[in-house]
Amino acid sequence: MKTFEELGIMPQILKAVNELGFQQPMPVQSEVIPHLLGDTRDIIALAQTGTGKTAAFGIPIIQKTDTTNRVPQTLILCPTRELCLQIAGDLSDLSVYVEGIKILPVYGGSSIESQIRALTRGVHIIVATPGRLIDLIKRGTASLENVRTVVLDEADEMLNMGFAEDIDEILSNVPDERGMLLFSATMPQEIAKITRNYMNDPVEITIGRKNEGATNVRHIYYMVHPKDKYLALKRVVDYYPNIYGIVFCRTRKETQEIADNLMKDGYNADSLHGDLSQAQRDHVMNKFRNRNLQLLVATDVAARGLDVESISHIINYGLPEDNDIYTHRSGRTGRAGKTGTSISLVHLKDKGKIARIEKAINKTFEKRPIPSGDIICEKQLFNFVDKIEKVKVNEAEIERLLPSIFRKLEWLEKEDIIKRVVSLEFNRLIDYYQQADEIHEPSDSPSRKEKGLFSRKSKEMKGNRQPESGYTRLFINVGKVDGVNPSILMGFINDHVKSKVPVGKIDVMNSFSLFEVPEEVVGKVLKSFTGMYLEDRKLVVRLDGEKPKGGMRKEKDDRGKRKKPRASQRKYR
Ligand code: ADP
Ligand code: MG
Repeated sequence: MKTFEELGIMPQILKAVNELGFQQPMPVQSEVIPHLLGDTRDIIALAQTGTGKTAAFGIPIIQKTDTTNRVPQTLILCPTRELCLQIAGDLSDLSVYVEGIKILPVYGGSSIESQIRALTRGVHIIVATPGRLIDLIKRGTASLENVRTVVLDEADEMLNMGFAEDIDEILSNVPDERGMLLFSATMPQEIAKITRNYMNDPVEITIGRKNEGATNVRHIYYMVHPKDKYLALKRVVDYYPNIYGIVFCRTRKETQEIADNLMKDGYNADSLHGDLSQAQRDHVMNKFRNRNLQLLVATDVAARGLDVESISHIINYGLPEDNDIYTHRSGRTGRAGKTGTSISLVHLKDKGKIARIEKAINKTFEKRPIPSGDIICEKQLFNFVDKIEKVKVNEAEIERLLPSIFRKLEWLEKEDIIKRVVSLEFNRLIDYYQQADEIHEPSDSPSRKEKGLFSRKSKEMKGNRQPESGYTRLFINVGKVDGVNPSILMGFINDHVKSKVPVGKIDVMNSFSLFEVPEEVVGKVLKSFTGMYLEDRKLVVRLDGEKPKGGMRKEKDDRGKRKKPRASQRKYR
């Protein structure tokens, strides 16, 4: 593997590359840079997101810029304003030691006058979204007759967004001899068309398998009923106390709703989508980049190509129809050699989609049970305790306050203080999960036929016989087919419930069983089984005759029950 120096990069750029902390060229850079520093004019480069495509075209473009001639020589087109700013920023970073080079981002939604002024003063590299550039061309302020290279970044997304005609129009203002570079994470059919229409015998560079997902991303999914999706989202987020991630939604409306709900429920979340004003989008992106925002809820278009460092998780609030979109979403995490996790909340009917995506990205998904309240509380507690251990103490600042604090807390033992600090942070979370119903996974079984049997049976039993007095009858989703008989079930119950429970009458059916326990221990029994698994299967224990948990009703109750967390409760996030 060659070093940046051996690739022929000039000293001014090498210095910047060093300062950016790039030690080795990334594969797409090793491949693309020599071509572009040489005579190759047309390149198609396909590489996963986060593989360093910007510098792959940025470095040679900067190096080949004739800074003595202040006219636009390179035009970089990209789909969104955020990306436009990001690319221009990256190029500025790479060219800080290149004297006199001018790079201008040109995008809609901000003052056209200041962009016109900058263009009139003269620039070498224009980074633009198509719409605004066309505006400027029409006003006669952006003259492109000296453009030697056009870059289409996130080409597939530009085509998805319907920019094909705009690109046509822009290219008709650029000399025919120009070279063209096309960068994309995926290779849909339409790109082949662009290649035919606009490119001249392009060199094709593919890093990794075409359309393959990033290699250091784990793919996890949770199976949920559609009605439980939002509650499951909250659990997943709670389960990862240090999550810093993007929640992808399908539509602008859904994006806003989910963000609103998360905010209302006390999460550090905000939305990014096309219905927001530019000022709002800027504000949200800044918060997110500065890590003052933990969860960005976004549409695909709004979050496209964004390079935000160290995103730990992306969450698919539902799987996208298109495999490529999944690739793009998961590519927001696991960037630049870091690891990341792509989480999907899916329905039973999405099983086919998972299989399809697995094939496309050449990775397998891990199925995870929705975390139970107990497990979440435990994780959050440990995370908090860990923070107490690691927090930096500003001795000088607090020293003067300590004597009075010590005096006030003198009467408490160390254990009491610890308990109080933890309770202060966690009472609400613990309360919430104590009261919240566990979310049950939808399952293929029992089949419809069995379900019919089940409802008939239980009605029949209810008609026949009341539970013994003082006892309550419970349902459990294991039965004869699982190899259960009354004595096994009795042992099973006593293994799971901490203290010994006198089990009354037991009825083992084909796919489920009913058993009776004294009224006063019902709560304890139900609680002991929450979140328990029998091999792969989640155990469901509930009052006999009670409908399976869930539904809109439940979601409302649940929200009503959840007290608004105090601001401090989420500060540690
Ligand atoms: P892509 O356009 O392929 O999605 P980017 O160009 O946005 O990826 O780069 C992803 C991240 O990798 C950026 O944060 C960038 O600064 C970083 N990066 C680029 N090249 C290198 C390198 N050679 N070594 C280390 N990090 C790099
Ligand atoms: Mg990119």
